[in-house]
Amino acid sequence: MKYVGAHVSASGGVENAPVNAHAIGAKAFALFTKNQRQWFSKPLTEKSIRLFKENCEKYGYEAHQILPHDSYLINLGHPEKEPLEKSRTAFLDELQRCEQLSLDRLNFHPGSHLKKITEEASLNTIAESINWALDKTRGVTAVIENTAGQGTNLGYRFEQLAYIIDRVEDKSRVGVCIDTCHTYTSGYNIKTEAGYNKTFADFDRIVGFQYLKGIHLNDSKKELASRVDRHDNIGKGFIGLDLFRRIMNDPRFDDMPLILETPDTSLWPQEIEMLYAFAGQ
Ligand SMILES: [Zn+2]
Ligand SMILES: [Zn+2]
Repeated sequence: MKYVGAHVSASGGVENAPVNAHAIGAKAFALFTKNQRQWFSKPLTEKSIRLFKENCEKYGYEAHQILPHDSYLINLGHPEKEPLEKSRTAFLDELQRCEQLSLDRLNFHPGSHLKKITEEASLNTIAESINWALDKTRGVTAVIENTAGQGTNLGYRFEQLAYIIDRVEDKSRVGVCIDTCHTYTSGYNIKTEAGYNKTFADFDRIVGFQYLKGIHLNDSKKELASRVDRHDNIGKGFIGLDLFRRIMNDPRFDDMPLILETPDTSLWPQEIEMLYAFAGQ
């Protein structure tokens, strides 16, 4: 079964996210459980938590159909002590919010070395950050997203994702999310059939499909290997429709959230409908 949805608004409270997802015909959704551009947010209220769970039940969303995303401010690979501690504390808070909402995974961008330490040193710090936070929580998997490799962002090679996973102590609570735009602009040519087959064979060998916990479905405004992160609507960018048709017919992407983060949100209902039509669902 394919579960397609989008990163919907949780404005007014997390309980609105499942309502917004249902309204666009989604069978999956992503959300921020707090303001993604602020370090501190008020704790979730008991009422919000209860309504979120009620709405998920009402509209048929289970944990494996939901992919919460953490704040953009967090850098778990930060080269300096104080900002690193601030990031780790915020990441722990994000995991605890997921625990409160009975969600089983949290999607995050691995981190950036900021040209102050080597890539390897920063990757080690990321793994230590994950271990530190997992040790203080239960039931939530840390889902590392691959990146476009823009600026000093790490996670743009499958080897880097594997490097982090190797150093995470509890392998049952670490996973990955593949963003199709990031994959393409980081240099993997998933646009062609041969490139698709090779990229996901490499992914399986280097990381392993058993770690895959979600997909971000985005076309790209930028070219192959540009290392720029600019999403486009499905079929409107450099990647084109074939990739999305292949994903929707590939059982390796069953039973996980497949999430649109495309810029023109008014197209989401059509995009979701088109993707389901590709899968014959
Ligand atoms: Zn993404
Ligand atoms: Zn992106």
